[in-house]
Amino acid sequence: MDTNAKLYQDLERVLITREEIHEAVKKLGQQITKDYAGKEPLMVCILKGAVMFYNDLIREIDLPITMEFMAISSYGNSTKTSGVVNIRKDMDVDITGRDIIIVEDIVDSGMTLSYLKKVLETRNAASISIATLLNKPARRRVDLDVEYYCFNIPDAFVVGYGLDYAEKYRNLPDIGVLHPRIYTNET
Ligand code: 5GP
Repeated sequence: MDTNAKLYQDLERVLITREEIHEAVKKLGQQITKDYAGKEPLMVCILKGAVMFYNDLIREIDLPITMEFMAISSYGNSTKTSGVVNIRKDMDVDITGRDIIIVEDIVDSGMTLSYLKKVLETRNAASISIATLLNKPARRRVDLDVEYYCFNIPDAFVVGYGLDYAEKYRNLPDIGVLHPRIYTNET
């Protein structure tokens, strides 16, 4: 914890430790390896939040995967969703007939991934599934199948291990609940 001590001062508490993350990601990698045996899944990393998770997850998958990246709009500098979703960076390849796994940091209302899934469904993939590090089921506003997740978490704003607030805290090795004093002046 010492190397990031300043960042930890902005947390209310650590919610998930790096050891717990490591264990859960390893288990998920094994599960995907089993479920996609004989296939070559195309793993789509949703920038930037999923980068750490993606980086660790793909190395736990014992299959010939391919890597792609997309960027979609999230909350900007706010802790609340705008409900507006935009593709800022698209994939570079044709996904016809491919087995797609969308790798996301967190599913909250579900609106972002519901939109993205609909867009990808028009591109004739063989299958599309979602793998998220964190899942906030209590906050769901749309019907969305989440095939894989590492942790269900309560309704709190979390940062670390790729997740940010105003672009900060992504490099925290653990996941923590951000102290409300950090964002209470938000408009
Ligand atoms: P949704 O469309 O499911 O409401 O939101 C998905 C996106 O909102 C995530 O990709 C993430 O960028 C952001 N988000 C939702 N909850 C949190 C949270 O607790 N912490 C952080 N840092 N981002 C969140």
